[in-house]
Amino acid sequence: MAIGLEVRDLAKSYGGKRAVDGISLNVRAGELYALLGPNGAGKTTTLRMIAGLLQADAGEIKVFGTDARRDPLAAKKAIAWLPDEPLLYDKLTAWEYLEFVAGLWGVDPASARADAERLLKLLGLWDNRNDRCETFSRGMKQKAVLAGALIHKPKLLMLDEPLTGLDAGASRLVKDMIRERVEDGAAVILTTHILEVAERMADRIGIIKDGKLLIEGSLEDLRTQAGAQGQSLEDVFLSLTSHTPVAAQ
Ligand code: ATP
Repeated sequence: MAIGLEVRDLAKSYGGKRAVDGISLNVRAGELYALLGPNGAGKTTTLRMIAGLLQADAGEIKVFGTDARRDPLAAKKAIAWLPDEPLLYDKLTAWEYLEFVAGLWGVDPASARADAERLLKLLGLWDNRNDRCETFSRGMKQKAVLAGALIHKPKLLMLDEPLTGLDAGASRLVKDMIRERVEDGAAVILTTHILEVAERMADRIGIIKDGKLLIEGSLEDLRTQAGAQGQSLEDVFLSLTSHTPVAAQ
């Protein structure tokens, strides 16, 4: 499978403090990569740089072969970005929001309408399609933003905490939709603090701390590298990132 995302030696400092300190990783087409790390590890900063929302200090980013730092517009055409805080245009209805997003990406209006209907129905927002986004609960906003992220059929899907604020049913639905995209050949990178999600869904997992990638691979690879055979991802994660010994947790 083609490499969907290639990141080399990516770095970003804020006021002299390194938030991302030389991260390199690849995500193949048809692969789900979970980027894990404790609060403040540099996950969102990494994803924002890849999405072209934040200027990197150094490093390379390639999206399906396109140099995203040299040609951000071309790279952005292949990317969908789901931020950790759902940002919507409050005065637009859900339907208008999806029309607007599809228009931005130049999606054919007829196919956009069909996809908007399918996504809103799937996500249980169809009855709210004519309601303004400002009236939505957090979970409903999250679903509307996700529908916006999926409407242009991105080749690289980047999801920052996609399950936060979703109820159990919606969470299952969103996980299924993400998996479907992976099976269709999209490269997907997501962050999550719900380690079971990474354990169950991810093909590969990267754990970062203080802006550095500590370990990367399948869950089995991680166990081997961490000398933690038979242990859960939570055990591996805590043994690598926690200041206190796991036994004392
Ligand atoms: P969380 O799991 O809490 O969302 P994260 O891994 O996504 O954390 P980042 O948001 O990438 O972490 O933050 C990495 C570091 O960069 C933190 O030390 C944070 O304080 C710092 N940082 C992030 N954004 C800014 C900013 N705009 N200005 C200054 N420092 C920032």
